[in-house]
Amino acid sequence: MLIDSISKMRQLLSNISNIGFVPTMGALHDGHLSLIETARKHHDIVVVSIFVNPSQFSPGEDYDVYPRNIDEDYTLATSVGADYVFSPSVFEIYGTGSLTNVIVDDTLTNKLCGAARPTHFKGVTTVVALLINIIKPQKVYLGEKDAQQVILLKRMVKDLHMDLEVATCPIVRDFDGLALSSRNTYLNDEERHEAIYLYQSLLVVKKQYDIGERNVEALKKSLAEVLKNATLAKIDYIEILGYDDLQSIETIEKKALVAIAVFFGKTRLIDNIVLEGGF
Ligand code: AMP
Repeated sequence: MLIDSISKMRQLLSNISNIGFVPTMGALHDGHLSLIETARKHHDIVVVSIFVNPSQFSPGEDYDVYPRNIDEDYTLATSVGADYVFSPSVFEIYGTGSLTNVIVDDTLTNKLCGAARPTHFKGVTTVVALLINIIKPQKVYLGEKDAQQVILLKRMVKDLHMDLEVATCPIVRDFDGLALSSRNTYLNDEERHEAIYLYQSLLVVKKQYDIGERNVEALKKSLAEVLKNATLAKIDYIEILGYDDLQSIETIEKKALVAIAVFFGKTRLIDNIVLEGGF
């Protein structure tokens, strides 16, 4: 069932005690569907939200042109087991404007994607907290593709003692390794071809790590070498940070996040792998 009103959503969920929730911005692809399928296995009711949240876009970003196709999304989401697709308007969520935000500290938000998009995560944490407050799920399902988002939202849930769990699902990739993203449709043929070097560069790091390289600078250097093959790409960041705290490290001794972001024109793509740490 497609729902656009908060009161109707609350009414439908009022007596349900085992809800799985998948927040999305729509333009659903197999990455989103894997989250819905996983939730379907564990809950009586699965709710998927489709909300292109204006407050997580900066001026000049792609809010106006972000792909929207609610009919197709509804068919896809329900075909893999969503019970309710919650697709409220911006006015339904924010009215004439909200004065309240949920902000995670700078130590987690001013790096990686937060460096180039300083207001992005404030929009994300606020809208996810707000949606959780409406849906009251037992578990929220997030994709590991947005690694920093996962770390921040887990921290928000912990710090605010929200009564729910966060589950994560692996990155779903296209046939050639490119991480699926609603923004991949913006790429022209040449950019799409070069975009394979994102994952290729992460695989090279993984390979070096597997044969014993633990020095962060050396790993970043090999990664950058591979990314040079993407001649149309402008690198936003190449980072290897401690997982959970996102602190800088020189040597990989514990779980670490290898994360990259590049621009193809105005299209920004991200990808990551996690190294478990240790020798
Ligand atoms: P979005 O619609 O881009 O906000 O994404 C909604 C959810 O889907 C987030 O938890 C994303 O991390 C997740 N997601 C997006 N792309 C992928 C992917 N390729 N594999 C797995 N999860 C994904």
